[in-house]
Amino acid sequence: MDQTQAPVQSCPDCAAQMPAAVRFCPGCGRSMQIIARAQGKVGVLSENVAGALAYFTILPAILFLFLEPYRRNLFIRFQGLYALSVFLQLVVTRWIRPYPDFILQRDPHFRLQS
Ligand SMILES: [Zn+2]
Repeated sequence: MDQTQAPVQSCPDCAAQMPAAVRFCPGCGRSMQIIARAQGKVGVLSENVAGALAYFTILPAILFLFLEPYRRNLFIRFQGLYALSVFLQLVVTRWIRPYPDFILQRDPHFRLQS
């Protein structure tokens, strides 16, 4: 493979040039994944927009957990899982009655729905 065709990045510490896919700088050993994270772009969306989208209904959260490249991004994967857990907690707390029937029936205004 021709090295000049590959996308190139440079280290902010030692200014060494390297392919964009490299995880650590060959010159000083600095992690280059932090830089990819700071650029904040995943697919066509910015990282922040994708993270916020995870909370609009439940569908984007599920999509982000299974679709490339979103599922490989740690930030978006966290937001997707968090949105899912909030949704599940809301469903469960709505499902489970907060008070059992014998407590509700002490209320004189209580009407049993059937
Ligand atoms: Zn370096």
